[in-house]
Amino acid sequence: MAVPQNRVTRSKRNMRRAHDALSAANPNECPSCGELKRPHHVCPSCGHYADREVVAQTAEIDLDDDAA
Ligand SMILES: [Zn+2]
Repeated sequence: MAVPQNRVTRSKRNMRRAHDALSAANPNECPSCGELKRPHHVCPSCGHYADREVVAQTAEIDLDDDAA
C-alpha cells in the first residue's frame, strides 16, 4: 500500500482545497409550467422539454393503500 512520504502541511492542504468549492446551480424557468428546472433537462414537474411533453405524467399513486 502506498504511504505518504511527507506530511502535507495545513497550508498546502488548504491551498489544494481552495478549488474544491461547488458552484451554484443555474435554474431556468420552465416555459410550460413556470417551475424552476435545470437547463437542458426535462422539467421534473410537468415532463416537458422544448415545449412538448416527453415524459407522460400520471396521477399520484397512493402507497398507503393495502394492495395485499
Ligand atoms: Zn414544467
